[in-house]
Amino acid sequence: MVPVELPRIMGHRGAAAEAPENTLTSVRRVADCGATWVELDVMLTGDDVPVLFHDDSLKRTTGQAGLMAETTFDVVRHLDAGRWFGPAFEGEPLPSLEDTLALIRELGIGLNLEIKPSKGRARVTAERAMDIVARHWPQGGPPLLVSSFETVCLAVAQARRPDLPRGLITLWPSAQQLQLLAGLACASYHCYHKRLRAKTAAAVKAAGYALACFTVNDASEAQRLFDMGVDCVITDDPRRLLQTFGQNPL
Ligand code: MG
Repeated sequence: MVPVELPRIMGHRGAAAEAPENTLTSVRRVADCGATWVELDVMLTGDDVPVLFHDDSLKRTTGQAGLMAETTFDVVRHLDAGRWFGPAFEGEPLPSLEDTLALIRELGIGLNLEIKPSKGRARVTAERAMDIVARHWPQGGPPLLVSSFETVCLAVAQARRPDLPRGLITLWPSAQQLQLLAGLACASYHCYHKRLRAKTAAAVKAAGYALACFTVNDASEAQRLFDMGVDCVITDDPRRLLQTFGQNPL
């Protein structure tokens, strides 16, 4: 297992409370507020270009009808990914993974890259994303963690870049998944915060994994999780949680 040292506070989809999620402006806000890591989602366009995106449908964050998996990059790159969030963000582009990695390297922050395939596209999404990582993320750069709900994505990441740590994401945390973590040589376990039990948290920590929770926007909930041994909370509002908890050094 390649270990990972997670920060206490990590920005979710950038700093999704104050800028449109999964955009370069959102990534800049993370660095600007003093957070040292960002979580972002990567999905493929219809012609297999990895871009930052969360939903299957284009509707919520671009206002367009259609599915990301059925839209070419040439169309996607001209979509407005900021207008839905507020007039100040109008014209914000929907970024490619390649452009995003360039910015993150420049900012020098850590990246938790969630591979987020649309239905039936898990393997190819991981392959194309790892191709971009291989070309644009040198060894010895800032920390990069590859995470996914999909075990096949983690297996592809393991085969392509065994030097990078991996994290398994789950909505239903359970100590029974420790075997899965071991099988994929994961470094971290990322849990839906409302379903993480103290007993499970203790078992995960005793087995030597880093433990993260999402999406935690409330300071008292973050404190409850830290008290259970959680290492990292992934939050839409890193600025606010950093004011309460501060950041551990990268
Ligand atoms: Mg995500």
